[in-house]
Amino acid sequence: MHAPAQASLEDVARHLDTVLRTKDVPDYPGAMNGVQVEHDGPVRRCAVAVDASLYTIDAAIVSKANLLLVHHGLFWGGSQPLRGRVFQRVRRLLAHDVAVYSSHLPLDLHPTLGNNAIMARTLELTPSSGFAHFQSIPIGVMGEADVDTATLVGRCDTLARREGGQLVAVGVTPERRTRRWALCTGAGASSDTLREAAAAGVDTLIVGEGPHHTAVEAMELGIAVLYVGHYATETFGVRALGEEIERTFGIPWSFVAAPTGL
Ligand SMILES: [Zn+2]
Repeated sequence: MHAPAQASLEDVARHLDTVLRTKDVPDYPGAMNGVQVEHDGPVRRCAVAVDASLYTIDAAIVSKANLLLVHHGLFWGGSQPLRGRVFQRVRRLLAHDVAVYSSHLPLDLHPTLGNNAIMARTLELTPSSGFAHFQSIPIGVMGEADVDTATLVGRCDTLARREGGQLVAVGVTPERRTRRWALCTGAGASSDTLREAAAAGVDTLIVGEGPHHTAVEAMELGIAVLYVGHYATETFGVRALGEEIERTFGIPWSFVAAPTGL
């Protein structure tokens, strides 16, 4: 009988950092991409989730995982005292020897494992260039199509329901066709991305979420916006990382679905 697969956290993290180009991709300060919490290890089982939260930490512990891999890490709130729920997160991780690895924009923009690339493929869209620039690096994707916008709405609705979201479609009229689309997962709708979409001649913008004013601006610009849900558009990348770890190290993984996808 083979011994169960295992690997050091250092080896797993080095592999992920290389594949994701963690050091080269800029990000928000709270992202803290890479290993956020170490453990005694070695890594024997992974849990992957969109968010590092008490819920996903507890689910990782129940599944006997000792590495939790997330898209939104522990430090989005900036420096905080280890009190209350922040303390509970850390306490549980340390008590159960669970490490945390987080990847935000490096995972959003990855050409094969990324949220945007996989979501485009799921929607039967083929990207031809980048979209939604952060410090001049494209996070999202865009491309050409020739499809009824209503058909795209149907595909987005199916995806939203499956991944725990709820589609809101703005500016979709009957007979409308999508010829140039752009996609940015997560909080993808903003005045900046709408400006970029308008300049690129995009007629249909697919995002996770965005503030109300983006719907108003989009209607004025004649751009249809499909809001699929922040959470629902970011479940792809972490699952792809789970598969990548299994492929490389033989370590099993499972996805922790959050009870509240927004
Ligand atoms: Zn996000």
